[in-house]
This record gives sequence, structure tokens and C-alpha cells, in this order.
Amino acid sequence: MRAVLSTGSNMEDSRAHLASVVDEFAGELVAASSLYATAPWGGVAQNDFLNQVLIVEVDQTPLELLRRCQNLESRARRVRETRWGPRTLDVDIVRIDGHASDDPGLTLPHPRASQRAFVLVPWLEIDPGAELEGESVAGIVDKLGSEGVRRL
Ligand code: AMP
Repeated sequence: MRAVLSTGSNMEDSRAHLASVVDEFAGELVAASSLYATAPWGGVAQNDFLNQVLIVEVDQTPLELLRRCQNLESRARRVRETRWGPRTLDVDIVRIDGHASDDPGLTLPHPRASQRAFVLVPWLEIDPGAELEGESVAGIVDKLGSEGVRRL
């Protein structure tokens, strides 16, 4: 089963957190995008968000994959609580080939992916022909714009 994952962090060691996801899927990785910096908004001084998209090929059910992503998030949270103060690692499933679901516990494709340039732009980098619900991701990005999403 092929899946597209989106990861994000704005901890001090964001790179390490994103790398922990790449490590977890090392043997199942089809492609990994560059890291992208997204400037935070709201006027609070904090680090840029770092975002990355991974394409993985896993021999698991969608729910098993979700559990695995959630385990990575809780591992990062444990580190964060003891050392760095509040911040998150988010690991979302953007889409799984051949799967669609309205279940709030696992909605596929991810309901907000089409509004998030920080998901779509890195995804396009590693799959220029990517599609989301019958629409080309390149076309969605054209409409949405990619301002504030900076490739590192
Ligand atoms: P968040 O706090 O934004 O990371 O949302 C986590 C919740 O979203 C969890 O309860 C998941 O079960 C749920 N969820 C629904 N669809 C997805 C998806 N495609 N990828 C990741 N989490 C999802």
C-alpha cells in the first residue's frame, strides 16, 4: 500500500524530529522531499515550521499505518516534555492509494491537504504528477499559491 505522509515540527530540533520519521520508514521509503520552512504567523516569536512530505510503501492496513504515525508523535512529545518545552511533531496521512474514508478517526484523503501549500508543494517536488481527488496537485498549487513555503 502506497501512502503520502506529511510531517511538521517547529521545535528547536525540528530537523531531528522530521528525521525520526524518515528513520522509522527507512526500509519502506519511496521518496522524501526536501525540507521546507514555513514562517509562523500571529506575531509570536517562534521558530519557522519545518515541513516534509514522504511517500512510503508499507505492508500494513491504513489503521496500522495511522497508529505508527501516532506513535512517532507521542515519542516526540515525551522528548519535548522533558527537555524542550511545548512543541509538536505532527505526522499526517495525506492520502493512501485506492483508499477513501469519511471516518473522523482516519479521513482519506486528509480533508485539509488541498488547502495547505506546505503539504502540496513538497509533495509536488517528489511526485510532479500527483493527484488529489481527481485534481492535479500542480493545478491546486497554481490556484492556492505557494507564498511562505520556502525550500531549504
Ligand atoms: P491532529 O491533532 O491535527 O494531529 O489530529 C489528530 C487526529 O486526527 C487523530 O485523532 C486522528 O485519528 C485524526 N485523523 C483523521 N484523519 C487523519 C489523517 N488522514 N491523518 C492523520 N490523522 C488523522
